[in-house]
Amino acid sequence: MLKVEGLNAGYGAVQVLWDVGFHVEDGEIIAILGGNGAGKTTAVRAVTGLIRPMSGSVQLDGVELCGKKSRAILDAGIVQVPEGRQLFTEMTVYENLELGAFSPAAKARLPESLKECYGYFPRLAERVGQAAGTLSGGEQQMVAVARALIGLPKLLILDEPSLGLAPNVVDDILEVAYGMAKRQGLSVILVEQDVTKALGTADRGYVIENGRVALSGTAEELRTNEHVKRAYLGI
Ligand code: ATP
Repeated sequence: MLKVEGLNAGYGAVQVLWDVGFHVEDGEIIAILGGNGAGKTTAVRAVTGLIRPMSGSVQLDGVELCGKKSRAILDAGIVQVPEGRQLFTEMTVYENLELGAFSPAAKARLPESLKECYGYFPRLAERVGQAAGTLSGGEQQMVAVARALIGLPKLLILDEPSLGLAPNVVDDILEVAYGMAKRQGLSVILVEQDVTKALGTADRGYVIENGRVALSGTAEELRTNEHVKRAYLGI
């Protein structure tokens, strides 16, 4: 469903990504792995149009999106949960969730989508009227994921969901993403520094080092790869 090829991208004249390529199928979860500053976030920013790639191709279901504006890419069905969540902290949980329904289809389905999200994250149902800024970090991440799902994405991008959160909250979030992928065919890109967690959830993964894809394979292949074990799993 998503096919990225020959992606070169960066900031101003500084190139960060070199000839990056990866693909995601319907209902598949891929992990994009790598250390600090490897270029993972830059890769997803290039996919979502937050930065304009220098060159390359980003195709969703055969439609070229490279160079399109982020709004057009969102409308095409690619929704990102950004690193750091970016909620409207003064607004209530409900108001934040409502903002996820940006398309007519998502607006029409909002009551059902909300019910589903409260099912996935019961804690949100108890806090609908509370200002989002007063929630715990884990609850805020749940709002961010729920808001993205309310947009009815074809492809959900989770950028560092484990950042600063308790492991059980991260597990809950990954479980929801896994369920949506396997039951409803949602495709997921999981950007993670926590390689153990990422490979525990993903079907396949790509390791980015110095802005290039250094390795790719199934989760099992990567878990047992000597370089991955040494560099990322500490074994
Ligand atoms: P982390 O896991 O630490 O977030 P990452 O793999 O996501 O790392 P990126 O955020 O993609 O890494 O950063 C890759 C490189 O691009 C880094 O050298 C970083 O300093 C640089 N970079 C990121 N954002 C910008 C920006 N807005 N302007 C200039 N350089 C940037």
